Amino acid sequence: AKKSGKNQSTYFTEILENSIIKKNNIQEILRYSIKNKRFRLLYQPQVDVLTGEIIGFEALIRLKDHSISPNEFITIAEEKGLIGKIGRFVIEEAIRQLSKWKEKGLDLKPIAINFSAKQLNDKAIIKYIEELLKRYDIPPQYLDIEITESILLDDDCEAINFINRLKGMGVKVSLDDFGTGYSSLKYLSKFPVDKMKLDKSFIDQYLNESGKKIIKQLILLAEAFDLDVVVEGVETIEQVRLLQKLKCKIIQGYYFSKPLEAKEISEIYTKKFD
Ligand code: C2E
Ligand code: CA
Ligand code: CA
Ligand code: CA
Repeated sequence: AKKSGKNQSTYFTEILENSIIKKNNIQEILRYSIKNKRFRLLYQPQVDVLTGEIIGFEALIRLKDHSISPNEFITIAEEKGLIGKIGRFVIEEAIRQLSKWKEKGLDLKPIAINFSAKQLNDKAIIKYIEELLKRYDIPPQYLDIEITESILLDDDCEAINFINRLKGMGVKVSLDDFGTGYSSLKYLSKFPVDKMKLDKSFIDQYLNESGKKIIKQLILLAEAFDLDVVVEGVETIEQVRLLQKLKCKIIQGYYFSKPLEAKEISEIYTKKFD
């Protein structure tokens, strides 16, 4: 027993060491990628299920030279204090993309970007957003900032102040991953947001009778707070049909489109899905 105990602790030490090495590697990759601008954004359409039209996009970050998932590297970027710079890249790149589509003569559609709670440490972030919108001549309502409940965990007042300043500028704010945190209802009443994004886990877990009821109630709840609802992670026609029945208006998911390069988006920009 003693022997196997020792082996086991060696084993765990190894796992721990490997994960530290891996983390440090990713940290190095991130530093390099920040310095050399080796990030890009993909855009996933959000579709109005009644008209089939694309009504906006979510920007999703990728590393140019690596296939490490954003879930993994964003977490490390947050831990290592690198999210501020990455976050600024995302904001500028999305606004620049809006201006490119505008120059092409396309009717603008909002781009939603993901905003980490840790980016609140960047004290000049509001000013940064304001200046970029001005520089690229983009009306603020075409920028939509997705936040999660976790933004309220550290400091309620600071987060609410942040949201109010964005809204004061005319920037849209969405509550991402709704329903995955705890006390979501409390946050919904505190957050002056425009939109609520229902997490994929609802679609996955709740395609049975009780699940339908939950989704239906969440959609009604959003209406009561005068919020738009986007349902994420929709992959099948059955899911689309069900959501239509539940009067859900906006869907984002592989069923309509995976996240695409800006160039590919330009080709389907005015497409109508059926
Ligand atoms: P999220 O904000 O919840 O983004 C939705 C994720 O679901 C994306 O994964 C998207 O590609 C994926 N997805 C969309 N439709 C479907 C579907 O029908 N089926 C399935 N299985 N997945 C679908 P992705 O791009 O890997 O991003 C993962 C997470 O990384 C995001 O979750 C977000 O939390 C974070 N992230 C991505 N880009 C950024 C960014 O620019 N900044 C920050 N702070 N976080 C980001
Ligand atoms: Ca998101
Ligand atoms: Ca989400
Ligand atoms: Ca998420």
